[in-house]
Amino acid sequence: MQAEPEYAPGYEELYEEFLAEAAAINDLGNVAGLLSWDQDTYMPAGGAEGRGQQMATISSIRHARLTSPRMAELLAALEAADLPPHSVEAAMVREGRRAYGRATKLPTRLVEELARAGSSARQAWVQAREANDYRLFAGELGRMLALKREEADAVGYTTERYDALLDEYEPGARAADVRVVFSQLREDQVRLLGDITGSSVTLSDAALRGPYPAAAQAAYVQSLAAKVGYDFRRGRLDETIHPFAESVGLDDVRITTRYDTDNLATALFGTLHEVGHALYEQGIDPGLARTPLAHGAGLGVHESQSRLWENLVGRSLPFWEGAYRGLQAAFPAQLGGVDLSTFYRAVNVAHPSLVRTEADEVTYNLHILVRFELETALLAGDLAVTDLPGAWNERYRDYLGIEPANDVDGCLQDIHWSVGLFGYFPTYALGNLMSVQLYEAAERELGDLDAPIRAGDFGPLLGWLRRNVHAHGSRYSPPELLQRATGASLDAGPYLRYLRGKFGRLYDLQATQESP
Ligand code: ZN
Repeated sequence: MQAEPEYAPGYEELYEEFLAEAAAINDLGNVAGLLSWDQDTYMPAGGAEGRGQQMATISSIRHARLTSPRMAELLAALEAADLPPHSVEAAMVREGRRAYGRATKLPTRLVEELARAGSSARQAWVQAREANDYRLFAGELGRMLALKREEADAVGYTTERYDALLDEYEPGARAADVRVVFSQLREDQVRLLGDITGSSVTLSDAALRGPYPAAAQAAYVQSLAAKVGYDFRRGRLDETIHPFAESVGLDDVRITTRYDTDNLATALFGTLHEVGHALYEQGIDPGLARTPLAHGAGLGVHESQSRLWENLVGRSLPFWEGAYRGLQAAFPAQLGGVDLSTFYRAVNVAHPSLVRTEADEVTYNLHILVRFELETALLAGDLAVTDLPGAWNERYRDYLGIEPANDVDGCLQDIHWSVGLFGYFPTYALGNLMSVQLYEAAERELGDLDAPIRAGDFGPLLGWLRRNVHAHGSRYSPPELLQRATGASLDAGPYLRYLRGKFGRLYDLQATQESP
């Protein structure tokens, strides 16, 4: 056991003051979150201008509190107090410093220029998509890149600029490490995809085409969310074009979903995905509420939770062995004559596609690799903005064996770069890798989880995730959290073995099951 830490004199008052200030900053962030949730759900269109002003006001008040001279004094004094390095207090101060650093390192001029560039580049991106003409976007992308380089320089980094941007989304991650892990993914997933497209087995997702009335879908996913553990007393589920999860506080974590009458998978797996994000936030230790630790550890870890419920649970055979009767009862006309095995195959069709958001488990990471390789090259100046479409298409040919016929389905498909999100894409793939590492660690401790999942009992898995991931909020950095929860650092091996096992069975790849 650790001895009671001996704090510097006067430490306690300073710490209390720091926490009170952090609580107000946290409240302001949650208010902004609520305004944004409302904007995306129920706000009448006429409210847009006023809402923009309200959000700007809240954000400037929050920024002023976060970067106040008093906050600087408190952080400096608490850092000098020599807190035990692994204590909750030290983590609070570390996260406080991180937020302060991010908010103060960028000169106001750069923040304003980034905001302006984001809005004009986004507009240019929309126009370029409408005209299917990448040239309308290229100039804006170039200007955005120049500003992101400035941002990286202001934030600071040790080896490469990209790290400064990546760190905002995945604290502690480095491009060099990501590259090593991704090169393993590339080789293995390209080979697996080749085996699947060469297989004599073809799967059909015709059963998902319906039509499935939206109201019946809404009723079903509502009960599905509750069944896996989403707490509706501390959350709600609404409909939006782009689904998301928004935390308005640990006891108010909202999600949205989307209903496509011609594709049941959209709502089923989209809902489970957002439920995974929300379970994380709802599971944070209530003692951390309104503190700098009251949010997930990073986007990669967050994505590990959404992908775990969406794919490892939601697209598994044991899950549907337990849940399929209920789904058939909800859609007797559409699924009454479809057996379990046909349905399970329908939700696991793997094939190369051009659009990331529609990608299956086998191909998803390949879409991310393309973006990571191109955005690191763009930022480093190794790839000219004018050469982006060609480089994009070449990689799709190499990794997925297909090539977009136009840039709308190619390098213009994602909004991210237009609004300055560089260093964001890798977190999607890191989340996939961590989801399997965490799931396997849970099974090592709890035993095989197939039986409880088949029985509709998600308590053991959720309990393990609560204890090992959710409860901690952002107390630990992502690498530390993963190490504590799984005993290992980030590793592509478990994910690749999982894919090979699952899709080897689905596509009858026994002959090539063992990698050479
Ligand atoms: Zn997500």
